[in-house]
Amino acid sequence: MRILLVEDSNIVVRLLKHMLTQLLDCTVDVAPNLAVAKQLLGQNSYFAAVTDLNLPDAPHGESVELVLGSRTPCIVLTGSLDAKQRKRLLQLGIVDYVYKENRFSYEYVVKLISTLNRNRHTKVLVADDSRVSRNFVRNLLELHLFEVLEAEDGAKALEVLERESGIRLLIADYNMPGIDGFELILKVREKFAREEMVIIGLSNDTDETLSARFIKNGANDFLQKPFVHEEFHCRVSNTLESLEMIRKLWEQANLDYLTGVYNRRYFFDKVSPQAQQGGGFSIALMDIDFFKKVNDTHGHDIGDEVLKEFARRMKAAFGQHFTLARFGGEEFVVALKGLDSERAMTLMDGFRSKLAQVPFQFGELTLSLTVSIGVAEFAGDSLDNMMKRADLALYEAKTQGRNQTCIAS
Ligand code: GH3
Ligand code: MG
Ligand code: MG
Repeated sequence: MRILLVEDSNIVVRLLKHMLTQLLDCTVDVAPNLAVAKQLLGQNSYFAAVTDLNLPDAPHGESVELVLGSRTPCIVLTGSLDAKQRKRLLQLGIVDYVYKENRFSYEYVVKLISTLNRNRHTKVLVADDSRVSRNFVRNLLELHLFEVLEAEDGAKALEVLERESGIRLLIADYNMPGIDGFELILKVREKFAREEMVIIGLSNDTDETLSARFIKNGANDFLQKPFVHEEFHCRVSNTLESLEMIRKLWEQANLDYLTGVYNRRYFFDKVSPQAQQGGGFSIALMDIDFFKKVNDTHGHDIGDEVLKEFARRMKAAFGQHFTLARFGGEEFVVALKGLDSERAMTLMDGFRSKLAQVPFQFGELTLSLTVSIGVAEFAGDSLDNMMKRADLALYEAKTQGRNQTCIAS
C-alpha cells in the first residue's frame, strides 16, 4: 500500500513512517507542505493520505481539500479541533480525524489504514426501503472503502443473500414493507451463524424497546436514526472486529492448524447426522504410507510440507462436494454423501492412483508418495462404528502391501 503523509513535524513523520512500514509494509511518501503534496498527488495514486491540518503554507486545512479532491481517502492529524471544525471535516468526507497526543494516536492511524485495507474485501448489504437513508449509509460505507450492496425491502435482501456469497455485514432497517427488519433478521439467522455474518439494526422509530428486540432476535448491534458519521463508523468497525474474533475462535476450534482443513471435532459434529440419513453414504479413511520415513529422512519440516500438499490435493479432489478432515497425524477422512461403497471405492481409488503418479515437489526435492485407503458404507450403524470398519479396511490395505483401497465387509 502506498501512503501519502503530509506533515511538517519531523518527529511525527519519523514515528508514523516507521510504524506504517514496519507494521503494514506500506510505502510512505512524505510531503512537508502543501506544494509538495500537490506535486506528489499529481504523480502517484495513493491508497490513503494522512495529513496534518496545519501546514506552513496551508494553515486552514487546505491539504484536506487537496487530498479529497484527488479522491484519496483522507485521515486528518490535528493538535486540536473545535466542534465546528470537526463537523466541517466530517462533512467534507474524511475517513476520520486523530489527535496528535501520544503513541496510541499513531497506533490508531495504523489501525485505521489496516481496517480500510480489510474493508475493500468486505461486502456489506444495506436493506432499507428509504432511498435517502440507503444512499446515506452507502456513502458512509464507501468512505471507508466497503463493497456495498443494496436491497429496498426484506424480500429483496433475502434474494441478494441467496445470490451473493461472502456478505459479512447486514445493515437492516426496522420499518420495511412486506418482510420487516425483525423478520428479515430471524430468517437470515436461520441460514447464517454468528461466525459468518454480523447484523446491525436501524430504525427511526422512537419505540425504546426496539434496540433490545433487535439484539434478542439475532442482531449484534442497533443504531437509532438519525445517527452521526462517527458513531456509525465506530459501531460498524466494532461489530466487524467482533466478527473477526468469533471467526478466529471458530477456526481454532474447528480447523486443523497445519493444513487448514476441518479437524476431527468438526467432522464428527457435521457428519454424524448425514450418516443417520442413510441412502448411499460412505466414508473413506486414508493414511499416507511410510510417512515416518519422510520425517526421518528429510526432517519434520518437510513432513509438514507433505501433509499440507496432501491436504491441498484432497481439497482440490473432494472439497467442493464432500466434507473432509484431518483426523490426526497423517490420517485424513472424507465423508462421501450420496455414494455407496462401490462408487466411493472408484472415486477414492482414482485419487490414490493419481497421487502415486504425481510426485511431490519441494524446491529441488522430489518425493514419491502413496496412500492406503479404507472405505466403509453406512449400514444402519453409527459414525463411530463406520470409522472402526473403515479403519479395519485401511489395516487390510496396509497389510496387503499399501498403495491400495479396500472396502470394509
Ligand atoms: P504406515 O505406512 O504403516 O502408515 O507407516 P507410517 O510411517 O506412515 O506410520 P506411523 O504411524 O509409523 O508414523 C506416522 C508418523 O507421522 C509418526 C509421527 O511422528 C508423524 N506425524 C504425526 N503428525 C505429524 C505432523 O503434524 N507433522 C509431521 N511432520 N509428522 C507428523
Ligand atoms: Mg502412515
Ligand atoms: Mg498412521
